[in-house]
Amino acid sequence: MPVTLLPPITYGIGRTDAEPLDTAPRFVRTGGMSRWHRPRSGVRTADDRTVYSVWCGPQVGGLHRARPLLTTETVTDGLPVCATCDGRAVGAGQEENGPAGRRLVFGPRSLTPPRWCPGSRRGLYEPLPGGTTGRCLACSDSHPIRAMGGPYAGRVAIVQHPPGPALFEPCPFHRWRHPAVADGRLVCVCGRPLTSPQ
Ligand SMILES: [Zn+2]
Ligand SMILES: [Zn+2]
Ligand SMILES: [Zn+2]
Repeated sequence: MPVTLLPPITYGIGRTDAEPLDTAPRFVRTGGMSRWHRPRSGVRTADDRTVYSVWCGPQVGGLHRARPLLTTETVTDGLPVCATCDGRAVGAGQEENGPAGRRLVFGPRSLTPPRWCPGSRRGLYEPLPGGTTGRCLACSDSHPIRAMGGPYAGRVAIVQHPPGPALFEPCPFHRWRHPAVADGRLVCVCGRPLTSPQ
């Protein structure tokens, strides 16, 4: 049984042409690794390589032709399993948790929506009649617009607000961090269109 992957979140802001993967085999390593790791997220690159990010940090696969990506659902070759990967995968709910009295917990923070709407204090709004309020393009809620910044760098922006229920679905790579408007549409910094939940 393959496992369900988390989104391939990245802290870079470059454009990407990789596609996120939804599932992966339970254990992965390259030929040079002395232990098995567990995949947290994965992508298929434009040149058709599969690259997994494992729970302990590094990326596995697709990079070295001489060290091919190995995968398995059950470890049978006697190599150990990375403890960081194992604990985090179980704690985050990717794998079934242990018996009562020993429950592991691991909560990646970037998966939960931000406390403040990413449209806050920015020009990401559509002015509403009257000129004192705007509709946030990130979450669709209406809030006052105010002059912000100093006398030499003044700008008008929508006030800081919690995200409304129509907050856009997060980019698999950049989550809610980098929305922008291009050609009148809400897009992520990587160019992916951002849409509201239906
Ligand atoms: Zn690991
Ligand atoms: Zn908003
Ligand atoms: Zn993005």
